[in-house]
Amino acid sequence: MADDSRVEGCAVLAKSLKDQGVEYVFGIVGIPVIEVAMACQKEGIKFIAMRNEQAASYAASAIGYMTGKPAGCLVVSGPGLVHALAGMSNAMENCWPMIVIGGSSERDQDKMGAFQEYPQVECSRLYTKFTCQPSRIERIPYYVEKAYRSSIYGRPGPVYIDIPGSFVMTTVPEKDVRYVPRCPPPPKVCAATADIKRAIDLLSSAKSPLVIVGKGAAYSRCENELRTLVENCKLPFLPTPMGKGTLPDEHPLCVAPARSKALKDADVILLLGARLNWILHFGAPPRFRPDVKIIQVDICSEEIGNNVQPAVGLVGDLTSVLAQMNEELGGRPTKFVFDPAAPWWKDLNEKLEKNRISVQKQSQDKTVPLNYYAAFDEVNKLIPKDAIVISEGANTMDISRSCIPNALPRHRLDAGTFGTMGVGVGFAIAAAVYCRDYAPDKRVICIQGDSAFGFSGFEVETVCRYRLPIVFVIINNNGITRSFNEEVFNSLEETDRLISHPPTVLSPNARYDKVLAAFGGNGYFVEKPEDIQKALRESLANKKQASMLNIMINTMADRRVQEFSWLGSIQPSKM
Ligand code: ADP
Repeated sequence: MADDSRVEGCAVLAKSLKDQGVEYVFGIVGIPVIEVAMACQKEGIKFIAMRNEQAASYAASAIGYMTGKPAGCLVVSGPGLVHALAGMSNAMENCWPMIVIGGSSERDQDKMGAFQEYPQVECSRLYTKFTCQPSRIERIPYYVEKAYRSSIYGRPGPVYIDIPGSFVMTTVPEKDVRYVPRCPPPPKVCAATADIKRAIDLLSSAKSPLVIVGKGAAYSRCENELRTLVENCKLPFLPTPMGKGTLPDEHPLCVAPARSKALKDADVILLLGARLNWILHFGAPPRFRPDVKIIQVDICSEEIGNNVQPAVGLVGDLTSVLAQMNEELGGRPTKFVFDPAAPWWKDLNEKLEKNRISVQKQSQDKTVPLNYYAAFDEVNKLIPKDAIVISEGANTMDISRSCIPNALPRHRLDAGTFGTMGVGVGFAIAAAVYCRDYAPDKRVICIQGDSAFGFSGFEVETVCRYRLPIVFVIINNNGITRSFNEEVFNSLEETDRLISHPPTVLSPNARYDKVLAAFGGNGYFVEKPEDIQKALRESLANKKQASMLNIMINTMADRRVQEFSWLGSIQPSKM
């Protein structure tokens, strides 16, 4: 008997995503993707309905970073996709996998000015590794597998699948649909053996070696191999902002508090999954020695040699390459252990101590309103060591990086390579959804400046709706960088605010805590150390609902004086 059962396009899409292992889809429904979301749920894919595609795209990309498996981001045509470009570009710059699925206007109305008509495929190309519009419903599984594979193989990144509105509810004979088996995890690419030998020769000849651990290392899950290398050879290591936690920040070989010194005086640097971009000052003087020798390890061969020509370039997956290095070291007749009594360690330790004392001095100054360091000191006393910490804002992000240690890999998310403000709530939602399913006792702490919170603050409705017990900590200084207190703010009353009001100044003592409370969360407006402690204790005890500490700090608070300003000028070595 002939099989004449038929299946809708949305069901084919949902099953294809499920077959490839997509577990979460974040998005906003509307014409033409409502049925796609429902079909996903029918397949057992968790759908998180957000309030803006921007936050949805940030959330989906964070799942990709934390798990190595891309999440979906489902958006409507035209403006829906345009909002999601924010998360697509952020994921592209961070090298994080994600699958964006955009509904698009009717193909039969193409170029006629259809509802929300937009060149979605062309426009996504700039923000993705792979972009497609399936030719027929029956072939959707082929495109989904290819998109999934493209997002995680090689250098990870976002991909885009365009689904014309007419595909969603149209049915095709089920027997004509060719489902594709799940794509295997990325092949573990190894480096050339001769280059591994050269790298070890160079590393063991160093007088002042340094290992830089980037977020590519965190993403690759190389923590065990990295620990073996660093501990066997007693090498100082420095994490980048999101490389933090790949090995614990409190590890005795971590030299993060002596960052500038370590970068400036290292003669050989083993660069693991980090680009020599602005975050690492382009690898150029005065932040680095002009004659520094770099051993660069990256999954992407085109990355090797960007800004600085390395002494050795190793292309491969970090877990494999580090295992190769450990094997080479283990097979040598004399063990390489960097001398703990070497002058390099003495220099680094002196600097570590000096910087620790300087931070401690500021964190112990509990004059109210508090400075950043003192506020973070109060927060850090209570947050669990295994918490996932999201941090964004200018000073809030930079200072929290040195005050709030990370003990575990992929447990810190921030504005990243693209310096994107407004990622915080989306990231926190993703982290909390992940914890709900895989680590229910783990807490998600979302630390944001008041300005950063404003970008997608309304997503707290999503947080409360799904009962995600995120603890928000808003470091509120009434604005961007330095700002005004209420008294100065009010004194501007007589002037034309549009002319006189500094663009950096926001409303004084704004009650962001009440925004969360409006949806059922617990808000605290706090200023004094003892009140911060009490509110944080209560927030951490509440595992059923989100909380927010809106901490008012000194509006003139600033970071410690730095030897080099963060975005200071450089002398590029080749340009
Ligand atoms: P950071 O911001 O920490 O400095 P970047 O985002 O600049 O890090 O760099 C991450 C690098 O890691 C990228 O160049 C990317 O190609 C690389 N990478 C990603 N996954 C892997 C992997 N599995 N093995 C090696 N390198 C990787």
